[in-house]
Amino acid sequence: MTVRISVRAASFTESVIREMNRLALEAGAVSLAQGYPDFESPVDLRTAAINALHQDVSQYAITWGARPLRAAIAARVTRSHPTWPVDPETQVTVTCGATEAMIAAMLGVVDPGDEVVLFEPFYENYGPDAILTGATPRYVTLHEPDWSIDPDELRAAFTARTRAIVINSPHNPTGKVFSREELELIAGLCIEHDAVAITDDIYQHIVYEGEHIPLATLPGMADRTIAIDSLSKTYSVTGWRIGWAIASPELSIGIRRVHDFLTVGAAAPLQAAAVVALQFPDSYYDKLLHDYRGRRDRILPALESAGFRVHRPAGAYYVMTDIRDLTDEDDVTFARRLIADPGVAAVPGSSFFSDPALGRTKLRFAFPKKHDTLDDAAERLARIRRP
Ligand code: PLP
Repeated sequence: MTVRISVRAASFTESVIREMNRLALEAGAVSLAQGYPDFESPVDLRTAAINALHQDVSQYAITWGARPLRAAIAARVTRSHPTWPVDPETQVTVTCGATEAMIAAMLGVVDPGDEVVLFEPFYENYGPDAILTGATPRYVTLHEPDWSIDPDELRAAFTARTRAIVINSPHNPTGKVFSREELELIAGLCIEHDAVAITDDIYQHIVYEGEHIPLATLPGMADRTIAIDSLSKTYSVTGWRIGWAIASPELSIGIRRVHDFLTVGAAAPLQAAAVVALQFPDSYYDKLLHDYRGRRDRILPALESAGFRVHRPAGAYYVMTDIRDLTDEDDVTFARRLIADPGVAAVPGSSFFSDPALGRTKLRFAFPKKHDTLDDAAERLARIRRP
């Protein structure tokens, strides 16, 4: 017998983002690699979790999510988008983070042999998610400098085998916020090709310029959109692993079936606490955005004066940079050198492209960090040796 891993598992490698983070820890570098906060999560949220544990919320919740949480998710959606009614009984599935929601959505609605359209640069999970599903990813480039879509290229990516498209707005890694015009183009193609749109909305409350428009609110899209979100970014609790998918009752059947066998359910006491987060007043979201704007405005000039060409993000909490003025090295070599000296970790651009050559001159910096951390990073960046 030859002991081996599966062909599908062998077709992708360890996440480069997590690898960079590990190297940064070993080297004592400031990590602007992985996108998680180093500041405190909301104290009311932690208190709610402690209370749930004291009340012994310790057994399985309903597999597709505790009823109060599903009701809170539906109410939160309608609060921001009154024209988008969500039935918590049939349309909401609570998952272990947006990560599980995405793979459950793909396995729930996409078949082996189907095609899934992905924009690149991309958040690195979508390709493996499609491959695990047995589907073929079809990549469409977002073009610099504003990461725009070429309508003809997008049209050409849709074929008779297209089953789904993934849209992430605000976008990791570029900070792009998709415009209404772009979303209308995508919606039209989905309707024409009878495809499903899977939207990853986890940065929807971090928009500096423009507005977040849920694709599900466009005409004809409510029944063919799976809208994914999570507590991770909006409430600064990436380790809680609470996310959800909102979809039509028909699509939710597929998502719930897969979710049941993947994980059974997300942590019950944290589901109870999540209800509190979703009821935070508007002032919470205003402060979140205000604080992120301040962090963005701290890191952008630091990167620019260190010699990076920067793409100013309109949303989310990443800056995609170009290293051409700083080095001839490729992105991975330069990222490793930066970790060693002056001690700042970022993610090599090649991890966001199907063809690594496309990211060869890019590095992504994440800024969900305390001002002290960003100050430290800025001082170190100023010491980068130039050619
Ligand atoms: N989607 C995007 C676009 C992300 O950037 C991330 C994390 O960085 C995730 C999903 C993961 O979300 P979660 O922590 O809810 O699984």
